[in-house]
Amino acid sequence: MSSLPTHYEQIPVTTLASGRELFIPLHRLEGRSAGPTLGLTAVVHGDEPLTNEVIRQVLMRVDPAALRGTILAVPVVNALAFESLTRHTPIDQLDLNRNFPGSPSGWLSEQIAHVLSTRFVSHLDVHVDLHTGGVFPTVDYVYLFEKSRELSLAFGSRFLFAPTQPYQGTFAVPARERGIPFFTAELGGGSFLDAHYIEHGVRGVLNVLRQLGMIDGEVIRPPQQTVVTDMAVIRPRVGGVLYPEIGLDQLGAEVPGDTLLGRVLSPYTFETLEEIRAPFERGIMILLRGGIMRVNPGDYGYMVANAATARPA
Ligand SMILES: [Zn+2]
Repeated sequence: MSSLPTHYEQIPVTTLASGRELFIPLHRLEGRSAGPTLGLTAVVHGDEPLTNEVIRQVLMRVDPAALRGTILAVPVVNALAFESLTRHTPIDQLDLNRNFPGSPSGWLSEQIAHVLSTRFVSHLDVHVDLHTGGVFPTVDYVYLFEKSRELSLAFGSRFLFAPTQPYQGTFAVPARERGIPFFTAELGGGSFLDAHYIEHGVRGVLNVLRQLGMIDGEVIRPPQQTVVTDMAVIRPRVGGVLYPEIGLDQLGAEVPGDTLLGRVLSPYTFETLEEIRAPFERGIMILLRGGIMRVNPGDYGYMVANAATARPA
């Protein structure tokens, strides 16, 4: 039984080889008066458990008596990936968030995506999908899509990313097909500053509810918000142990080109295998690694936005 003032149900997906039933958990928080339906999703990537706590706290803090409309919240989208603390679904090794809108006859991840598209997003007027940097990296920005401008701004992150070429197959796909506003918030990860990022996420969602008129109160935004359009994802070319050369305090800060961000060392010979440097003449740190940690070749190493393309929101 849920200890929250929500109605809890499970949307069936399939039966696993283990005999266990795979389902999508869904909390419904009904307001006393009419209004839009906001969808919230967490743990689409199984290695981003902080987002689950954001949803729990939002559902605890919103008073149904003061809510106009309905919140439909999925606290764990990919239970199998959550169980293994992996980004991808272990059974088919696919990234659920690259397989929307899914297919009822496809790989397991596609089947999960299809159930979400047809049984969850199909009920929404607005959708916010919560992410983190994963087990190791720490991140702080929100996406800015065509229909989401006011809501993305209201979330209250300092940096907004309007990609010229969005990733294909994300949760944005069923929202786009339905014609509703959608955005992704990226906050925290790496088990660094968890309390800060949980609070940031909860405040962000409450701001979205205010912006939609679903609860009363002023939207609280930081004094300066910046839109970036050019983002470099820097992936280590070799695996080993990453030694950060800039700290978590540099998240959101400007770094000059060629700044040494981190080094990959061999854990066997201790020699430096790779130096990772800032790519743009003026860059803004969007994702970084806050401690000494293992990296694989091709991991999300760092994300740096090109400050030359940055504009005030
Ligand atoms: Zn993610």
